[in-house]
Amino acid sequence: MAEKITVDAQGVLNVPDNPIIPFIEGDGIGVDIWPAAKLVLDAAAKKHGKSIEWKEVLAGEKAFNETGDWLPEQTIVDFREYLIGIKGPLTTPIGGGFRSLNVALRQILDLYVCLRPVRWFKGVPSPVKQPELVDMVIFRENTEDVYAGFEVEAGTPDAEKLRTFLRDSYGWDIREMSGIGIKPISKFGSERLIRASIKYALEHKRESVNLVHKGNIQKFTEGAFMKWGYELVRNEFADVAVGWDDCGGNPGSKLLVKDSIADITLQQVLTRPSEFSVIATMNLNGDYLSDALAAQVGGIGIAPGANINYVTGHGIFEATHGTAPKYAGQDKVNPGSVLLSGVLMFEHLGWQGAADDIVRALEATITDKIVTYDFARLMDGATEVKCSEFASAIVDRL
Ligand code: NAP
Repeated sequence: MAEKITVDAQGVLNVPDNPIIPFIEGDGIGVDIWPAAKLVLDAAAKKHGKSIEWKEVLAGEKAFNETGDWLPEQTIVDFREYLIGIKGPLTTPIGGGFRSLNVALRQILDLYVCLRPVRWFKGVPSPVKQPELVDMVIFRENTEDVYAGFEVEAGTPDAEKLRTFLRDSYGWDIREMSGIGIKPISKFGSERLIRASIKYALEHKRESVNLVHKGNIQKFTEGAFMKWGYELVRNEFADVAVGWDDCGGNPGSKLLVKDSIADITLQQVLTRPSEFSVIATMNLNGDYLSDALAAQVGGIGIAPGANINYVTGHGIFEATHGTAPKYAGQDKVNPGSVLLSGVLMFEHLGWQGAADDIVRALEATITDKIVTYDFARLMDGATEVKCSEFASAIVDRL
């Protein structure tokens, strides 16, 4: 009998050997990549005496076609109840009442961390000389910043009203015909994100946490994020971590928390990747950084991601690319992103052995030059295989 994953008051998951895990197949290439990923995940779990009862929940086009609703209430109920789930990519409905289904899921479940580990897997073609030096884990704040959706369109009565208010109340002279957006960065939101990144760094014995911000310009939003981060280290982690200024960059045996300005960070993750380990940053910086870094290690076809609330225990692991509609149903694309999201999920569940096996088998497959089209076009002498064949080749090497 399959069982539910549960969580205790400290946010620690209790994971049975046979959990029920909801999944969203995903639109577009979801029909190709999800069955491929599932094949590998099931095989690895079985090897370690585990089994997953996958429970399909609907979202996106499939949900709309079957229920008339892009994000049925039952899907939210199931994610709430079973805590941990996984999803393929979803179409953003035009005029469906959602900015994005992904953003809606994150907001409804308050999944405040977007976790994006970026590391190189042996054999994967890369545009940089030493991709093996890239091993970073990005904690991107998921609920605030310019993503909060507080925006008014230029020329509308709302924009004019806001412009007038800002001029009269603050003396801010905003040009007419301006779109205006609001960027909220709260102490609560910053602290819980940075707290999660520090705990992760400590648990995974990482060297440093880097607070990435643009505080030299945006002092009271991005600058405050950094300031609150350093205060948090002093107030909550003084025995195990230390801020750069409090130790002159010499942390001894403690975890070093440092900061860097977003623009120079984008340069240095490329030129000095080994200096970055865990990165904690706000929503928009995190978005740019995650994709820029993914490009160094093989692109979005294999970049995994997760959205997590470490307090309630909820987490949705997801492919980071979109629905790539031009390839849908062709059994062609790389299932790596959703598969490695599954690996991340296994690690989160404490199934490290199964996770390690998949990574080893994936690397062996790519080293044997058995790859999908996206890698084949970048490698000499590669054998291009279908999405499903790539998954079978990984299972053969488990
Ligand atoms: P996309 O679906 O990510 O596709 C862009 C390109 O990325 C593809 O043409 C392909 O490149 C490459 N790619 C994506 N997935 C791949 C895979 N599994 N294997 C190999 N290559 C892959 O981005 P988009 O075309 O901008 O967006 C399409 C739809 O997806 C939109 O409706 C968008 O809103 C949605 N979307 C959803 C999510 C999500 O659910 N998390 C994220 C982003 C976008 P080549 O053409 O070079 O082969």
